Amino acid sequence: MLEQTERTGGQLHSIYGPVENYPGLPASNGSEFLERFAERVSAAEFDLWTGAEIQSVDLKAKRIVLKSGEELQSISIIVATGVRRRQLGIPGEKEFAGRGIIESGSRDREACAGKDVCVVGGGDAAAENALLLAEFCPTVTLVSRRKPLRARPTFVTQLQSAHCITVFPEAVVTRILGNDSVEAVEILRKGALKPFQMAVQGVVIRIGVEPNTEPFQGQLQLDSEGYAVVSSQHETNVANVFAIGDVSNPLAPTIIGAAGTGATAAKVIASRLNG
Ligand SMILES: Cc1cc2nc3c(=O)[nH]c(=O)nc-3n(C[C@H](O)[C@H](O)[C@H](O)COP(=O)(O)OP(=O)(O)OC[C@H]3O[C@@H](n4cnc5c(N)ncnc54)[C@H](O)[C@@H]3O)c2cc1C
Repeated sequence: MLEQTERTGGQLHSIYGPVENYPGLPASNGSEFLERFAERVSAAEFDLWTGAEIQSVDLKAKRIVLKSGEELQSISIIVATGVRRRQLGIPGEKEFAGRGIIESGSRDREACAGKDVCVVGGGDAAAENALLLAEFCPTVTLVSRRKPLRARPTFVTQLQSAHCITVFPEAVVTRILGNDSVEAVEILRKGALKPFQMAVQGVVIRIGVEPNTEPFQGQLQLDSEGYAVVSSQHETNVANVFAIGDVSNPLAPTIIGAAGTGATAAKVIASRLNG
């Protein structure tokens, strides 16, 4: 198992509230879930390499070269590289990471108390963050490119009835401004000639996710969003290369989906090995 960071667990480290939709393994957050899960996983025999950054991959030949110089050869490959948060790519976004750009409304809500906050995005994650922060912040402004918002109707109704939440649909944040930390955002509304600035001390960015398929581009068949296309056995267009979890599941990215598709791929591989 090759993991590019220093720890396994992927997105589980970003779940600060209770883990939903995984029956039988209740956990009050992703780290707790991971601990319980890891107890079982460590009973299995396998090699785990953390800090394993891929230099190149030849999927047909099943050969992986790591940046550290090691070369690995295998019979099958399972791609389980997941997704990452999409970034805005605007000035200020990188500069103010950890200095006003809020990682999670759920984790950081107490630290946000008394601050005016801007949430960027219009889906469930953006709406959920806005609603959570509205309990602690004097004002929450939600800026969404789309109209109507993509968030589920119950969230939209709650947003509309929360008196401290303002929604700017059909608008984009073009810059995040400040000195030592975030002091304002620049917002451009559809049809306006110029953006306007709004004072905020916190920004939450929730504009969706994108799949980690860059190392496999040109070899794996990907859909228009970059997700791996798989068969019902979770095999990709390359024989004996499988893709499981969020990287091949834009529709219902869940832990149970990742575990289930992993089980399918593992069964198929085992049955082929055992002839
Ligand atoms: C805030 C939040 C709340 C959530 N809440 C829930 C919930 O309540 N219930 C639920 O079922 N799901 C929830 N999810 C979704 C769930 O976390 C994911 O569906 C699940 O983690 C997907 O697992 P995965 O293994 O496919 O991918 P990931 O968890 O994304 O893991 C992918 C791993 O691959 C590594 N990787 C990426 N590229 C490379 C590379 N080139 N080389 C080596 N390693 C690489 C990454 O570092 C990462 O460790 C939540 C997600 C978030 C962000």
